[in-house]
Formats: sequence, C-alpha cells, structure tokens
Amino acid sequence: MILIDGKVISQKIKNDLKRKMNTLIKKPSLAVIRVGEDDASKIYIDLKRKMCEELGIIFTEYHLDEDIQQEDLLGLIHRLNADEETTAILLQSPIPYHLNILEAFKAISPEKDVDGFNPLNVGKLAIGQQTYAPCTPLGIMKLLSEYNINVEGKNCVVVGRSNIVGRPMAQLLLNANGTVTVCHSKTKDLKKITMEADILVVAIGRPGYITADMVKEGAVVIDVGINRVSYMKKIVGDVDFENVKRKCSYITPVPGGVGPMTIITLMENVIKTAE
Ligand code: NAP
Repeated sequence: MILIDGKVISQKIKNDLKRKMNTLIKKPSLAVIRVGEDDASKIYIDLKRKMCEELGIIFTEYHLDEDIQQEDLLGLIHRLNADEETTAILLQSPIPYHLNILEAFKAISPEKDVDGFNPLNVGKLAIGQQTYAPCTPLGIMKLLSEYNINVEGKNCVVVGRSNIVGRPMAQLLLNANGTVTVCHSKTKDLKKITMEADILVVAIGRPGYITADMVKEGAVVIDVGINRVSYMKKIVGDVDFENVKRKCSYITPVPGGVGPMTIITLMENVIKTAE
C-alpha cells in the first residue's frame, strides 16, 4: 500500500507557484467575501490569507454584516468584477440563509471565479471544456496524476454528490475518461457498487463509513471526509483507514491527504487569473 501524501505534493506545487509568481507581469489579487460570523469560515479564510501572503498574492477580505440584503452582496460582487486590480473573487460559504448563494455565485465574473461555482463554469466543466473547477476535486486529480494513477478506462466510484466535491469530482473523472458511478444517500446496496471501484472517492461526512469489506483488493481510495470526532479528540475521514489500508493499493490519510491540496489548488487558480 502506498500512502498518498498531500503535504509533500502541495509543498512541491507551492514551490512551483513561487517560481511562477516571479514571472508574472500582473500581480494576482484575491478578494474574499465573508458574510456574518461563521467561526469555521474565519479559520478557513485565515489559512487562505496566510498562503496568499507566503506566495505574494494580494489578499483582501470584505466582511459584510450578518443582516445585509441580497442587493448589498451583489453590489459588492459587481464592484469587484469591475475592479481591474482584483483578479480573483471568492465568496466564502456558508452565508446567512436569507441570502441566495446561487444568485451570488452567478454574479461573480466567470473569469474571476476561482472556486468554479458560477453556473457558466459549472456548465463548461460538464461539457468537458477548460475552466476553473472546484478546488477539492481538482486537487484530487493532481494527486492522482502525481502518483501516476491513470484514470482512463478505470471504474471510478464517487460517494457523495455535493456541488463542492462529489459532482465536480465525477465530471473531472469522466473528462479524464474514467467510467464513473455517483452514489448518494438514496443509493441502494452501496457496497455492491463500491466493491467494483478501481478508484473510490468518498465525500460524505460520516466518520469511518467505508469499511474494508466495501473496498476491492488493490483499489485506489481517496478520502475527502473531515470529521471531528470529539470522543477520540481527533479528525478522521469517511474511510476506516486502519483496516482499508491493508486492502488497497493507494490511500489518502486524514489529515494530510486531500486537505492540503484544496488550498494550494485554490492558489493555483488565483495565479491563473493573472496569467
Ligand atoms: P455534503 O454537502 O453534506 O454532501 C454529502 C453527500 O454525501 C451528499 O451527496 C449525501 O447524499 C451523501 N451521503 C451522506 N450520507 C451518505 C451515505 N450514508 N451513503 C451514501 N451517500 C451519503 O458534504 P460535502 O461538502 O461534499 O463534504 C463531504 C465531506 O468532505 C465532509 O466531511 C467535508 O468536511 C469534507 N470536505 C473536505 C474538503 C477537503 O478539503 N478535504 C473539502 C470539502 C469537504 P444526498 O445528496 O442524497 O444527501
């Protein structure tokens, strides 16, 4: 079994990006919009800020009050779209329920949409065109490529169909000529399907849900889950790592697998906006 090391690969990409930054004529500038006071969002944004600073990317956070109206949010997005200095825009989710996040994603200029959530970019991904794709699944494609894991012709099973991970993951695997099956909470006999997977990607948010008896001998297992298990006082994935690792050919650990790839892939997308 080979452990897929997201820390090592993300560091390698970071070094490449530092070199690339020196060649750019225009400086990339990321605007992050935060609405309200979600604690996890603050942590994620601080990680993005820190990474931007390390790479020399201009970072600006726009913090809007919890009770702002949709037109205020759209107004800010339109201003940032028009601002020539701002090359990339990211709306941190979640946002308060009274706001329409899909409308907001739609307002972000597709050329500045580094998260790939604007419906135009979602559509481009669906028809196999080059576009900004969501960072977590894009980071997973990079991991597969770094470890020379060929997707073409493989049975790929994605468990989870969220707009952030599962769906774009399935599209990227399909675009790489995998034979893709997507599973979700209404899927019948999940084990029968996961047992067929050469490449199994799991993004459901349920600690240790995928057990060894659900995995084919020699499969590649990508665990996207991040679950804080309070009684164990640690973060675990959606895969029963200790038992599944004995059966598979490659596996990502949690933490240290997919997680580090998400933020560095975002940086890569941000730098692209200035190229
Ligand atoms: P989400 O929006 O809650 O979606 C979960 C998906 O899993 C849904 O499609 C749901 O099906 C499916 N599901 C839930 N229980 C299932 C079951 N028992 N069997 C089969 N499918 C099931 O979650 P998400 O945003 O995609 O995130 C998933 C996990 O990845 C979370 O742990 C999250 O923290 C983690 N994550 C990690 C990163 C990273 O950078 N490493 C990034 C994003 C997310 P339905 O559609 O039928 O409800």
